[in-house]
Amino acid sequence: MQTQHFPVIVVGGGQAGLAMSWCLTQRGVKHIILERSHLGWAWQAQRWDSFCLVTPNWQCRLPGFPYDGDDPDGFMVKAQIIDYLRRYAASFNAPLTEGVNVERITKQGNRFYLATSVGPYSADRVVIAVGNYHQPRFPALAARLPEAIVQVHSSAYRNAAQLPPGEVLVVGSAQSGAQIAEDLHLSGRQVHLCVGSAPRVARFYRGRDVVAWLEDMGHYRLTVDDHPLGEDARRKTNHYVTGRDGGRDIDLRAFALQGMKLYGRLLDYEGGQLSVADDLARNLDAADATSQKIKDSIDQWISEQGISAPVEPRYQPVWQPTETSHHIDLSRLSAIVWAVGFHTDFSWIDLPAFNQQGYPRHQRGISTVPGLYFLGLPWLWTWGSGRFEGVGDDAQYLAAQMLAESENRDVRIPHAG
Ligand SMILES: Cc1cc2nc3c(=O)[nH]c(=O)nc-3n(C[C@H](O)[C@H](O)[C@H](O)COP(=O)(O)OP(=O)(O)OC[C@H]3O[C@@H](n4cnc5c(N)ncnc54)[C@H](O)[C@@H]3O)c2cc1C
Repeated sequence: MQTQHFPVIVVGGGQAGLAMSWCLTQRGVKHIILERSHLGWAWQAQRWDSFCLVTPNWQCRLPGFPYDGDDPDGFMVKAQIIDYLRRYAASFNAPLTEGVNVERITKQGNRFYLATSVGPYSADRVVIAVGNYHQPRFPALAARLPEAIVQVHSSAYRNAAQLPPGEVLVVGSAQSGAQIAEDLHLSGRQVHLCVGSAPRVARFYRGRDVVAWLEDMGHYRLTVDDHPLGEDARRKTNHYVTGRDGGRDIDLRAFALQGMKLYGRLLDYEGGQLSVADDLARNLDAADATSQKIKDSIDQWISEQGISAPVEPRYQPVWQPTETSHHIDLSRLSAIVWAVGFHTDFSWIDLPAFNQQGYPRHQRGISTVPGLYFLGLPWLWTWGSGRFEGVGDDAQYLAAQMLAESENRDVRIPHAG
């Protein structure tokens, strides 16, 4: 089969791949996007039915195509997100080829070779834009649980009706776990939730979305190089909050008042019982403390800037854990939703571009292998790098760097201007 050659190949047809494609199109660089499934697949296939953005719509600022709807302060639902991506691709006639799985990438000399499900491709530059959430993570103990208990990963959870009738355990309280627990709770299910160390953030404070305050405060311009945690920022768990029904806090204590059963971190499965850590109170307190710290920083900003904004009382916990049970009664459960994250898997890229943990070695997406770039990873450069907010800036940067580098290399990229 004849190898098809392109100056640039972008792997992945999500928002990152499309943003990259827009930036290359603007510069007249010939390229193609190879997408394993279909445009926006992750939003369609890996999110639950009631899913909506946690970030406000105005933060959807893909290059050349900022959010154009009538609800900038709202939170797009799944179908609207996919529609936004489809309209984006159509707006510049993105060179997207769907149904092409890139199975292996190698390099000989200056040229990359891509073995794909439809035949060979080659390229002078390759941009990896395949997201960060590759393989659902399950704890080892999941394999030992009784078969009668249905187990689904958060990425496969759709709605309560998908699960057999009965009580449901959700494990993990970061963004997905907290929202899925809420979804099940609102559907009338008895929910048990293992609460981990994820922080939380308020939705609104002193008259505005917290995200709007943080935007003004420059929070989203902070780079990984300037972050107090440095590259460890990439491993930070996301704060839980929701955009559902116009946006609101997720206060697990309020759910507990309404009957949700909260536990500490899940530890083990032994002798027919699930054991949990004694850290529920600590985890709830820590989540509240983070939320309060963010509010305090907003207070400080308001006062420094002399802004007039309504004052809000400090949060008072509405519930405290009293039970000391270290076990969850498995016989009560019909299903478990594992909301414990994902593994990344770049093993199909056969190039020395990764550290021992398999994470790409890069500086703002420019990898250690000349001509290979990464885009769309959380905190690739800023908080927004793995989100709608910042992926466009990173794509612009990579496109500019690619052309600048090409001026000094053997393989120049043909482009307009
Ligand atoms: C539960 C959840 C909630 C989120 N909420 C928000 C939010 O509110 N706001 C926000 O801005 N961000 C949010 N994000 C983060 C981020 O916006 C999404 O993860 C988004 O899908 C990332 O876009 P992407 O283009 O980088 O990757 P993806 O959307 O994952 O797209 C990657 C594409 O690459 C394709 N692909 C993968 N491997 C190959 C291969 N080998 N060959 C060919 N194609 C391949 C896939 O099929 C996929 O279509 C959320 C993420 C999750 C998981």
